Amino acid sequence: MPVFYECQRCTACCRWPGQVRLGGAEITALAGFLGVREEEFIQRFTRLTADRRGLALLDKPGGECVFLHGENCAVQPAKPQQCRDFPNLWNFPGFEKICHARPVVLASAEYAKKIRAATGRPPSAAVNPPA
Ligand code: SF4
Ligand code: SF4
Repeated sequence: MPVFYECQRCTACCRWPGQVRLGGAEITALAGFLGVREEEFIQRFTRLTADRRGLALLDKPGGECVFLHGENCAVQPAKPQQCRDFPNLWNFPGFEKICHARPVVLASAEYAKKIRAATGRPPSAAVNPPA
């Protein structure tokens, strides 16, 4: 039976080192949500990815995401797919040590429903489906 990880909103994943990559449609959605032009959004809130091939969200000086305001994501309704997909559609070995998501064993149909609700995508979109 598949395991769904229920986010507890601890915000650890908004604080650890790494990059949140942005696709063109995500930039459009985020700029629209914030009510700014895309050029302005790019200037104010993004940086080049490490491989210099794309854009990622800017970090604050302390390392947390530019959109982490206190304990909340300021762009929750329009947050990037990478954020929505973690930890169910992608994660990494040992992620449970820092992510407080609650593992829940579900029947396949309920699991698929939860995955769609959390990520907007089907379980088959997983890069590394949970065992
Ligand atoms: S966009 Fe929101 S969910 Fe994604 S890392 Fe930033 S604060 Fe966290
Ligand atoms: S996905 Fe995990 S690390 Fe991120 S906010 Fe939810 S419980 Fe915390």
